[in-house]
Amino acid sequence: MKVLVLGGAGYIGSHMCKMLASQNDTVIVFDNLSTGHAEAVKWGPLIVGDVLNKNDLVSLFSEHGPFDLVIHFCAKSLVGESVQHPATYYRNNVMGTLNVLETMIDTGHDKLVFSSTAAVFGVPKVNLIDESQPRLPINPYGQSKKMVEDMLQDFHKAYGLKSVCLRYFNACGADPEAEIGERHEPETHLIPNILKSILMGAEQQMKVFGKDYPTMDGTCIRDYIHINDLAKAHILAGDYLSNHDGAYAFNLGNGNGFSVLEVIAAAEQVVGNTIAYKIEEPRAGDPAVLVANANLAEIELGWKPHYNDIQTIIATAWQWHQNETF
Ligand code: UDP
Repeated sequence: MKVLVLGGAGYIGSHMCKMLASQNDTVIVFDNLSTGHAEAVKWGPLIVGDVLNKNDLVSLFSEHGPFDLVIHFCAKSLVGESVQHPATYYRNNVMGTLNVLETMIDTGHDKLVFSSTAAVFGVPKVNLIDESQPRLPINPYGQSKKMVEDMLQDFHKAYGLKSVCLRYFNACGADPEAEIGERHEPETHLIPNILKSILMGAEQQMKVFGKDYPTMDGTCIRDYIHINDLAKAHILAGDYLSNHDGAYAFNLGNGNGFSVLEVIAAAEQVVGNTIAYKIEEPRAGDPAVLVANANLAEIELGWKPHYNDIQTIIATAWQWHQNETF
């Protein structure tokens, strides 16, 4: 297969490319390098361009297409930033995706796997979130992804565009061969921040955002899912679209929740050291608990996470952060 990976220089996109190449797919990466890294593009050509620039997309599809599948990761993805800068989020995530969809339709491409998020659910009313739960996002990031999910329904009805939205819970971990991994500037995610606080010592103190959430230890609970398990789900979603005609959405997580303090304790086991932290104010837009029920992905896609132990997941990230190559 020839697969276009939009946002393939980023954290999830680069792991996606490695997995596609490992099964002999041809990979073309398109990325504006705003948060991605050219060094992470190792399994196919990198076309530098922006989904906000329709001309970039038109030349991409005409010069490098046709593609058997498009996987779209390009997005702004920080909850707190989206509360401060909603315009940036609606522009990049909604308008950028609209450009992608229009270009796909104009050039006869009909299969898309789209990065969505648990943030579409807002504050859930159940412990394990399945696809029947109402989507009521509480921040512009989640809202922007919900808008695209809705667009994809309409685009299927009107233009026959087939799609799978994959709603990631908390993507984490790194390539077990440590060739690529997570690198954001600035880093906002929990596991890299914990590990960096160890590597950087007093220079980067670990902060825990909020201690009064209605959870057993007062810190937020999340479902941490390994990056390669997420990548695998995209491959299965692409296969699914070969024999299913619709606009689908699946939740992807391990089904186990860990509080921030539990993740810190697990990281202490992995690194064999204690981790100092200080409690800070809660972050804007953070719901208390987000844990997936991923049964539908198992039934429909045949997807089951391989990494279901938080320490093993953290160990892959630790291996990467100790020897980051970009
Ligand atoms: N968090 C924290 N300290 C950090 C980074 C994150 O306490 O340095 C908390 C954050 O408030 C949330 C959880 O860890 O409750 C997971 O945050 P992350 O940014 O990794 O993912 P998100 O849930 O926002 O997608």
